[in-house]
Amino acid sequence: MNWTQYFIPTSKEIPADAAVPSHQLMIRAGLIRQVGAGAYTYLPLGYRSLRKVEAIVRDEMNCAGALELLMPALHPIEWWEKTGRVEAMGDVLLRLHGSGDDWRTRTVLGPTHEEVITEIAKAYINSYKQLPVSLYQIQTKFRGEARPKSGVLRTREFLMKDAYSFHACKEGPGGLDETYQKMYDAYCMIFSRAGIPYIPVEADSGAIGGDASHEFMVPTDAGEDYLVQSEDGTYAANLERAEIHPLEDVGGEATKPLDEVHTPGMTTIDEVSTFLKCQPCGMIKTIIYEVEGEPLVALVRGDHEVNEAKLARAAGVTSVTAAEPDLIKKLTGAEVGFAGPVGLKARMIVDQAVTLMHDAVTGANKTDYHITGVNPGRDFEIKESADVRTAVEGDRAANGSPLVFKKCIEVGHVFKLGTKYSDSMEAKYLDNNGKPQSLIMGCYGIGLNRIMAAAIEAHHDENGITWPMAIAPFEVVICALDMRVDEVTSLSNKLHDEMTAAGIDVLLDDRDARPGFKFKDAELIGFPIRITVGKRGLADGIVEVLLRRSGEVHKITPNEVVAFVTKQIEEAMKNERT
Ligand code: ATP
Ligand code: MG
Repeated sequence: MNWTQYFIPTSKEIPADAAVPSHQLMIRAGLIRQVGAGAYTYLPLGYRSLRKVEAIVRDEMNCAGALELLMPALHPIEWWEKTGRVEAMGDVLLRLHGSGDDWRTRTVLGPTHEEVITEIAKAYINSYKQLPVSLYQIQTKFRGEARPKSGVLRTREFLMKDAYSFHACKEGPGGLDETYQKMYDAYCMIFSRAGIPYIPVEADSGAIGGDASHEFMVPTDAGEDYLVQSEDGTYAANLERAEIHPLEDVGGEATKPLDEVHTPGMTTIDEVSTFLKCQPCGMIKTIIYEVEGEPLVALVRGDHEVNEAKLARAAGVTSVTAAEPDLIKKLTGAEVGFAGPVGLKARMIVDQAVTLMHDAVTGANKTDYHITGVNPGRDFEIKESADVRTAVEGDRAANGSPLVFKKCIEVGHVFKLGTKYSDSMEAKYLDNNGKPQSLIMGCYGIGLNRIMAAAIEAHHDENGITWPMAIAPFEVVICALDMRVDEVTSLSNKLHDEMTAAGIDVLLDDRDARPGFKFKDAELIGFPIRITVGKRGLADGIVEVLLRRSGEVHKITPNEVVAFVTKQIEEAMKNERT
């Protein structure tokens, strides 16, 4: 392929609205173009990379024994109503709008495909003899992301590989656990082959619901999530999930009696702690949730945050929602902002750190008042205590090793769904006793665009992208200097043809431009190998090979090129695995 016949709109300008490196570089290197918020065109060069990511994903899914199919983006809303996800997904679920009972009104754009695949299983899987089976697709997802950002890291339309497995049992041969492990291993292979540094973490199953899940995270400042790892490397979890070692009881005792203080209009931890000259960690935050119409109260220290996923688990419910002001007022008899545990009649889950507090400050359940000298156990009963807060710097993992926080982005997710979808959609099979049973399911998603962008986040320098060989748009660029010199042109063409014949992805920069200009573009786009053919080198009978990542330069004779480049590519594919 010759550059002059290709379509590569590179640019020097850093786009004003692009904050993260992958976004800036993908636009500057002519890989993508924004169409609207969260929607991008993949230009020919960018699409080559995306297709390479796709090929790796497809290959590993096939190796894991999954079968490829293709499902549509248009789904009947009834199926989503059946699983309760019209509500659970909220604005993320994009809907078409028609007038009245028009078909559009009853149609949504698929953000994921559990409903559609479960309907297929329901229709065609009748017997345990057909199980297990894994199906996958690589298909465009639509999500009403509130804040699409960071280029293709978070968009409203993206390519996902989503796989689903169906089983008659959880454990043992053919069970969910076995396929889950296979998929987990396949994911490790995918990220490794794509050359991106990844960390699998325990995760919460969130709105999709289910038993167990792992997320695959790439550490990067461009990420919006945090992962926490124990310093000793034995534990990794996402922030939502991370278990905390109980804080040490440093002793102390109740010294003060309860005392009501006037705190007019002060409803926040900051306001009250400043006014009363106490530390936020000396205050008890009383957060009221609602579960099936009943209040559920969580108590955490003033400097801590309630972790709703942990709270729901501790309470034994699937989710908790913040209580409406009316419920709070009814329960506390006060305006919002003055709730406290003393005298509060509701189910209360006390965070472990709160149980260690003495002489604390909290709301008085009376508008414009707080109380001081509050001692858990003395002034209110601790019936239920659990780890219901989010980890903070300084916390330790369950094994006692300090927790380290890293900003990251999720690139893949595997879930053990269990029977959540098969139950709600009544997808059953007959077991070996002829009894109908709900199908046991797993689901496994990977964002292809995000892999590509995460690779760039992990691999770039001040001059441009330093692609992993496996997903670079082209493996090699030949920079033909002095295109007007016949020897240069003919050797460049010859090398191009020989490499192409050897199965190497090569682009010939045949533009009539200055060397510096070509080199800058080559660095920006990040071809892993650059071969320079110029009349000066030719006079000495050599061409120059530059390796983008290491900056290594090799001067070799033209007839060594194919063998040398082939070897470099092979080695890079091997060594760049993560
Ligand atoms: P996030 O927490 O980042 O929104 P998610 O939990 O919604 O991700 P899943 O529903 O598990 O993601 O989707 C599977 C994969 O699809 C993710 O691991 C990610 O790689 C990709 N993905 C999800 N949302 C987006 C998006 N808005 N843009 C690009 N890729 C996405
Ligand atoms: Mg999401």
